[in-house]
Amino acid sequence: MTPIKVIILGAGYAGLTASLQLQKQRLGDQVEITLINKNTYHYQTIWLHRNAVGVNSREASAFNLRKLLDLKRINFVNDCVTAIDSDQQMIKTTNGEYQYDYLIVGLGSEIDSFQIPGLKEHAYSITTLSQSSRLFEQILTTLNQYSQTNMNKPLHLVIGGGGFTGVELLGELTEQLPKLCRQVGIDEQKIKLMSIEYEPTVLPEFDLELGEYAMQQLEKRHVEFYLGTKIKSLSQTSIKIEQSGLVEDIPVDLFVWTAGVKGHHVIDQSDFPSELGRIEVGADLTVPGHPNVFVIGDVALIRDQEGTPYLPNADIAIQKARTAVHNLLVKLNQKGQLKPFVFKNRGTIASIGAQDAIGMTRKGKKIFGRSASILKKISDYVFLLQIGGLSLIWLQLNKKKSVNK
Ligand SMILES: Cc1cc2nc3c(=O)[nH]c(=O)nc-3n(C[C@H](O)[C@H](O)[C@H](O)COP(=O)(O)OP(=O)(O)OC[C@H]3O[C@@H](n4cnc5c(N)ncnc54)[C@H](O)[C@@H]3O)c2cc1C
Repeated sequence: MTPIKVIILGAGYAGLTASLQLQKQRLGDQVEITLINKNTYHYQTIWLHRNAVGVNSREASAFNLRKLLDLKRINFVNDCVTAIDSDQQMIKTTNGEYQYDYLIVGLGSEIDSFQIPGLKEHAYSITTLSQSSRLFEQILTTLNQYSQTNMNKPLHLVIGGGGFTGVELLGELTEQLPKLCRQVGIDEQKIKLMSIEYEPTVLPEFDLELGEYAMQQLEKRHVEFYLGTKIKSLSQTSIKIEQSGLVEDIPVDLFVWTAGVKGHHVIDQSDFPSELGRIEVGADLTVPGHPNVFVIGDVALIRDQEGTPYLPNADIAIQKARTAVHNLLVKLNQKGQLKPFVFKNRGTIASIGAQDAIGMTRKGKKIFGRSASILKKISDYVFLLQIGGLSLIWLQLNKKKSVNK
């Protein structure tokens, strides 16, 4: 009998959780599972701000997929997905084509530059491990080049976006820049570190008090905030901003864009109904009209009871994957009940460097400072536990050699 073909796209929080959950099942020879991912490794996106400043090495944030997966139960294909043809039930990749009976899509987010002129060409970002590593190299290059000038003018490092990712990056930068400056012989006072945010507060996704706290902590570390400020365009050497109707050009030596993410371009190019690379899925996480296609992680749009879309994050990505796997198994085994996705809020914490953080607990309590930072570190390991159990934590604690080439 021809086996039923299940294909999983993407090995991020969602896709890897789904793969490892399916790997544990006794599905026998009747089901063939294939995971397609463009890298040979899974990376922890939630640590990428640490890679961007050199606190984490590439290998510290990555896991070799061939070591994580039971390759007798899961075929791993290292390839880039270029198209989903739902009529033919076919996945196209750079190097081949793969037929599916069931599909789980977990391709994650991409940068949204909001069509701001110059952003695509000149901005750095930290959405993937490669982008974060590239940013760290550029920080070193920029500092080195500056050290070879007469250092009369300040060096402008500008972070676009004061949301979760922007604040986490600023937190790490304020701690690492003094060390990096010492290494290359620059007076750290010469660095002007700026944050530009469109909203009137940083961390607009959190309570106002938490945003205020984060801003005060970062201001103590000499970050200059431009709130309620629109970025109009970017060139290699300057950025045009608009604040209260006034347009101004400020010099920039290095610009990092953390403000915009959207879903995946392959989703928009498919014939599934989508908006900005995301698909609004049904309660069972399938695409309306496609009961054999599950969408999970950042590319799945799902709303709370008030109709507001849940913010994409790692926790919800993992939870979606677990629900999708349950429902897929119901379909494969033709027994059991399909489950609607129900989000269990476990709280959210944003770090402000190694020893400080802000967040909300699952009971809605605001937390700050050292205790929030400790909880954040624990929750990072809880993510590993939820994705791959104790063995993933063990692997992380025992990482010795490079896995990502
Ligand atoms: C710097 C940063 C910090 C964050 N911090 C937190 C945090 O503290 N807490 C939190 O909850 N969330 C955080 N997030 C958000 C969180 O990381 C995402 O919501 C989460 O990664 C979504 O999981 P996913 O599986 O949908 O996508 P991803 O984890 O991005 O995985 C997508 C996978 O698909 C692969 N892929 C992409 N395109 C292709 C293709 N064409 N072909 C094949 N494979 C492809 C990628 O290589 C990747 O492995 C952070 C995000 C960033 C960028």
